[in-house]
Amino acid sequence: MLQQILTELAKNKVTLVAVSKTKPESAILDMYNQGHRIFGENKVQELVAKQGNLPKDIEWHFIGHLQRNKVKYIASFVHLIHSIDSPKLLKEVNKQAKKSERVVDVLLQLKIAEETSKFGFDSNTIKQFLSTDDFKMLTNIRVVGLMGMATFTYNDQQVRNEFKLLKKTFDDLKTTYFSDKDYFNELSMGMSGDYKMAIEEGSTMVRIGSLLFGNRNYV
Ligand SMILES: *Cc1c(COP(=O)(O)O)cnc(C)c1O
Repeated sequence: MLQQILTELAKNKVTLVAVSKTKPESAILDMYNQGHRIFGENKVQELVAKQGNLPKDIEWHFIGHLQRNKVKYIASFVHLIHSIDSPKLLKEVNKQAKKSERVVDVLLQLKIAEETSKFGFDSNTIKQFLSTDDFKMLTNIRVVGLMGMATFTYNDQQVRNEFKLLKKTFDDLKTTYFSDKDYFNELSMGMSGDYKMAIEEGSTMVRIGSLLFGNRNYV
């Protein structure tokens, strides 16, 4: 399944984040031994434990809701945080990255779904924040793009519209705030059930769990 998906993604130059949450280290190692290096987790404690036990050249992506008081546990090694949903959280990542003498790459999570359960910025708040001096002073983070999660629904048209909105916001922000930067390039959208559509709508990075590892007992 891994090779099949990778071949499909390669045609579109899309990066695969293999979402290994709730799965044992043996399952990650198995995929590592097939050559894959990019894994995503959504719980800090689980990520820290796995990172400690698994090969050091794995690129760990954090994809879940991140509490400010837990940033310090992952700042020294995390490769990309997909789920920045407030200015306060971004400032904390900057602070902890500085302590580790790193620049940490992040994505801003945009709320595109209807469900109230999903986290994320609305686009006006993002725009306001990107214009502030507060933002410009954050020298230990780099905003490399956006992430979004579509509504969990069988209504394909709704999902497609949400992806279109995310892509449009990405293009707007790139033009307005990042035109002089070469790193604002990532659009993290698409999961097991909707990644093909996400790629059609401009995704550069998909987060796939159950299709690779089998169904989870809980989410
Ligand atoms: C669990 C999760 C995924 C992967 O979901 P699947 O449907 O198993 O592919 C992707 N993104 C986030 C933020 C997740 O929490």
